[in-house]
Amino acid sequence: MVVPELFSTALHLCQYLWLKWKDRWSYLKLCILSLFYNEHLDVHYFLDVLLGPMYWFVDNFTKRLGPAFVTAVCCLMAAVIVIAHWIGLPYWWEKSPFAAVLLVIFGYWLLVNTLFHYYMGVTVNPGTPPEGGLIQEAVSICKKCIAPKPPRTHHCSVCNRCILKMDHHCPWLNNCVGHHNHRYFFSYMIFITLGTFYLMLFGFEIAYHELWEDYFRSEDLNDESLEGHAVRINKSLPVDEWVLEPVNGGDIIYPVNHGRDWRRKAILFMAFICSGAFVAIGALLIYHYRLISAGETSIEYHINKDQRKKFAALNKEYKNPYNFGRKRNWRIFFGLQKDRSWLHVFFPSAHKPIGDGLQWQTIYSGNPLEVHAKTP
Ligand SMILES: [Zn+2]
Ligand SMILES: [Zn+2]
Repeated sequence: MVVPELFSTALHLCQYLWLKWKDRWSYLKLCILSLFYNEHLDVHYFLDVLLGPMYWFVDNFTKRLGPAFVTAVCCLMAAVIVIAHWIGLPYWWEKSPFAAVLLVIFGYWLLVNTLFHYYMGVTVNPGTPPEGGLIQEAVSICKKCIAPKPPRTHHCSVCNRCILKMDHHCPWLNNCVGHHNHRYFFSYMIFITLGTFYLMLFGFEIAYHELWEDYFRSEDLNDESLEGHAVRINKSLPVDEWVLEPVNGGDIIYPVNHGRDWRRKAILFMAFICSGAFVAIGALLIYHYRLISAGETSIEYHINKDQRKKFAALNKEYKNPYNFGRKRNWRIFFGLQKDRSWLHVFFPSAHKPIGDGLQWQTIYSGNPLEVHAKTP
């Protein structure tokens, strides 16, 4: 009888220990999982966590290199302006003084607008929600700022702050594009695209003569006296007087035209910069034109796309609450209310956008052009 009793007691003890261990293990598992619990855990969240280090790198990289990007843009614009005055202006003046005057007037209109909108895009604060106090308009909380977030506001991880009606962070402006400088950013793109097109259009003839025709007519290539001779450059003279000398003696002295060489390089530089900027910024301009026409920002474009899919799955139609129709959207975007006309778009104007960026009218609440026009 002793052996079965012992066996039974040992069995009970094992069962007890097993249950206790199982209990502890499930408790421990729950504790560990609770540390990583997230109600909204999905594939996007998982990817976000995985790509975290890369985001950190891009955020810091963009922040540090911001001033270098702005300096590069300023240097490129300055070089283009100098070359246009040095080569383009005398060429057209010689051809037709009347055409040159018209080109100068039109060119300066583009130039002043480009510089003004770029300067404003860089220096104007895009707008942030007020710190402290109650924000009645808040619709959510920013997890990074631990602060209330009004509609259309998003957190910029480069600037490390919330931005009103945030569109995106622009490294070329070293600034966020938001409620207060969105118009300057877009107008800059309009004028720089028009400006590069203007330079390509009226510089084409100069480039054609200089780089194409003159290349085949070049005396350098057709100079029979140099044929069959090995030549060297005599660098003992000052740079402007460098000459080509036959290696095995002879009487060839051929001056190198440095002015013309620089001219060619400048024209090549202009062709490269203007065509590159025209294509890249032009494509971006079309993208933003479509967004603004639809009354959405770059961030809202993605949000609205997701919403449309969700609504379509339920056989419903999703409407962007900030889309008041193409024409009205543009008037709202350019702040054209009360006595403001399209002249405020085609000439530099520092007028403020409609609304404070905290409170937003929707298609269900009222037309912002009328609602804000009533309030002083
Ligand atoms: Zn924030
Ligand atoms: Zn930013």
